[in-house]
Amino acid sequence: MSTSDFSSLKLHPGLLKNLGSLGYESMTPIQALSLPAILDGKDVIGQGKTGSGKTAAFGLGLLHKLNVKSYKVQSIVLCPTRELADQVSVEIRNLARAIHNIKILTLCGGAPFGPQIGSLEHGAHIVVGTPGRIEEHLRKKTLKLDHVEMLVLDEADRMLDMGFQDAIDDIVEKIPDNRQTLLFSATYPQEIEDIAMRVMNNPVVVNAPSTDEESTIKQYFYQINTDDERMNALRILLAKHKSESTLVFCNTKLDTQDVADELVHYGFYALAIHGDLDQRERDQALIRFSNKSVSVLVATDVAARGLDIDALDLVVNFNVAHDPEVHVHRIGRTGRAGRSGIAATLFNDRETRKLDALEIDVTADELPSDSYLDKPIKRPEMTTLKIDGGKKQKLRPGDIVGGLTGKDGIPGTAIGKITVSSNWSYVAVESGLVKAALTKIQNDKLKGKTFRVRILS
Ligand code: AMP
Repeated sequence: MSTSDFSSLKLHPGLLKNLGSLGYESMTPIQALSLPAILDGKDVIGQGKTGSGKTAAFGLGLLHKLNVKSYKVQSIVLCPTRELADQVSVEIRNLARAIHNIKILTLCGGAPFGPQIGSLEHGAHIVVGTPGRIEEHLRKKTLKLDHVEMLVLDEADRMLDMGFQDAIDDIVEKIPDNRQTLLFSATYPQEIEDIAMRVMNNPVVVNAPSTDEESTIKQYFYQINTDDERMNALRILLAKHKSESTLVFCNTKLDTQDVADELVHYGFYALAIHGDLDQRERDQALIRFSNKSVSVLVATDVAARGLDIDALDLVVNFNVAHDPEVHVHRIGRTGRAGRSGIAATLFNDRETRKLDALEIDVTADELPSDSYLDKPIKRPEMTTLKIDGGKKQKLRPGDIVGGLTGKDGIPGTAIGKITVSSNWSYVAVESGLVKAALTKIQNDKLKGKTFRVRILS
C-alpha cells in the first residue's frame, strides 16, 4: 500500500468504496498532502488550482465529518462563481453517493431567492455558494450557521479579486470559532496570508508540486505583425489541430465577440463568453462547449473562471496576458490529468515586454503553412438539442434518455451530456443522428407531455 492509496487514510469504508467506482485509483498530490491533516481536524491551506483534485480533498474531509442524522448546516463551501459552486456541488454529490439522504444546497446569486428559502426550510447538511448570496441569506435570517463545523474557502484568491473580502468576513463572524477551516488558492499573495491569519487557526500549509503539469504542456509562441495576421494565425492553428475543444483567450470583451464572430464567418463552430452576456446566454454557451457541439470558446479571463473542461487539448492566447500569473493560469487549462496539451501564444512587437515578464525562454516558432486556411473545417461530432422543459416540469435526465431511445429512436450510445435546468434541458446527441432525435422528441411525448425542442448546435 503506497501513501498515495486512499486506503492509507482513516476514511469511512462507504466513502472509500465509492472512490473506486468513481475511478479514483490513487490520490493526486494535493490530496495525498492535505487529506491526512484534514481528516485529523486541522486547519489547512492548500495551494492548488482547478484540476489538481482539490475539490475531492475538501469534499472527502467534510463528508467524513458529517452527521447525516442532523439536518443542520454542518459545512459551508464558499466559491467565487456560480459555475464553480455548481461543479463543487456535483463533485461532492458524486463523492457522497454511498451516504443516503444527504442534502447539499447550492446558494448562488443570479438564481431566484424564494426557492432557496424553501429548500433551506427543509434542512440541509452542506451549503455551497457564492459569498454575496450567502451573506444575503444571513441578513434575512433564512440561513443559520450556528452548527457549522467546517468552512471551506475555495479559490480564495479569486474571491478576493472579485471583491468578496467583506462578505467573507461577515459570513465567518456567524460561524462558531471551534470550526475547522480549509482554504484553497491557486496563488498565495499577501491578501491570502492576511485572511488566513484572521480566519484560521494554526493552519498547515500544503503545496502541491506542479512539475508534471508543466511537463505536459507544450508552449508555442507565434510572432505576428497585423490584426489580419493574428486572425489568420488563429484560423491556421484551429484548422491544423482540429481539437474538439479549444479555448481562445482575449484581453477584452469586445475582442472575444469580434473574434468569435469572425471565426463563425469562416465556418468555425465558435462562441464567445464575456461579462455582457446574461446568465442564460452564458450557461447555454458553456453547455454547448462542454457538450462538444461547439469546438471553440473565445473568452476573457474573468468569463473563463470556474470553467472546468478536462479535455482541452489546445489553448490559444489571442493576446498575451497582462500578467505572468494570468498566463500560467490560462495555459494550465490544457494538459490536465496527465494529458498532453498545447498552448499557443500570438504576440506582436508591442507585446514582447509582457513575454519577457514570463521569465521563460521564448523563441518565436514558425507558424504552420497558410494552406490550412483552405482546409475544410471539422464539424463537431455532437449537436446540442434544447428542450423547453426542465426541473419545474418534472423532467429528469432519465425521461430524456427514455424519450430519445424508444421505438424508432436513436441508440443510447449516441447520447452525450444531459443538463436539466429549471425550465430547459439540453442534450448532446451525435450530429449524424440529430434529425432522428429531433423528430422522435417532436412526435412522441416526454412523460405524456409535448415539449418544444430545437437544435442549438
Ligand atoms: P478539481 O481540481 O477538484 O477541479 O478536480 C479535477 C478533476 O479531477 C475532477 O473532474 C475530479 O473528478 C477528478 N479527480 C479528483 N481526484 C481524483 C483522483 N484521485 N483520481 C482521479 N481523478 C480525480
